[in-house]
Amino acid sequence: MASPFDTLIFDLDDTLYSSKTGIGQALRRNVQDFLIEKCGFPESEAPNLNIKLFTTYGSTLAGLRALGYDINADDYHRFVHGKLPYDLIRPDSKLRNILQSIKQRKIIFTNSDRIHAIKALDRLGIRDCFEKIICFETMNPNLMKSNRPDEFPVVLKPSIEAMNIAVEAAEVDPRRTLFFDDNVKNVAAGKAVGLRTVLVGRSIKSKEADYALEILTNMVQVIPEIWVNNEDDSDQRISHKTSEMGSICASVGA
Ligand SMILES: [Mg+2]
Repeated sequence: MASPFDTLIFDLDDTLYSSKTGIGQALRRNVQDFLIEKCGFPESEAPNLNIKLFTTYGSTLAGLRALGYDINADDYHRFVHGKLPYDLIRPDSKLRNILQSIKQRKIIFTNSDRIHAIKALDRLGIRDCFEKIICFETMNPNLMKSNRPDEFPVVLKPSIEAMNIAVEAAEVDPRRTLFFDDNVKNVAAGKAVGLRTVLVGRSIKSKEADYALEILTNMVQVIPEIWVNNEDDSDQRISHKTSEMGSICASVGA
């Protein structure tokens, strides 16, 4: 019997490492410091503004640029990620062993910038387990060329545009691709573009999640079909996939 999955796509933060590491809190503090120090917002407004921009625009950077603040994405990422306590992320040999036992393609899909993704993956000791990193820069190739902050809106999960960019960059058939994310909205967006979805960090599935994993490493028990032997029909599957890719690219409308 063949595994129903050709590729596994993983979110990074709060998915490949726990939300309890303290990295998330440190990040929120840095973002609030950015709002105060670089944008001049009063200290008392920073926590609420941070939440408001995140929920309305998907990220603080996206929100600031949409509101007309000409924030350079690299400067922003350097400020909010540069001084994160990365040593709070510990090497995860259990996760590494599981990833190494999965023969399918494995890809990272994160809203974070590439430097942060590489640092976190190196701390976990799993960078070499992934074929590709789809990140902020992949979704926003034109941002550095923009003349005005509203010229190119920041593209991030959970927008459908971001999901389509990832499906195209990963070169996958979404119906045969398993997408892991801790964010309910991202999981819903994944489902909307046809991916099979896994909600991480919860024991109960959201509406658009095909699976829920309280801890990522529970995938061994909860999604055993990942490991089903799929060598027997590999030739057939490759030709099948090639023909499907044509229709996916057409529907993405590149
Ligand atoms: Mg996440």
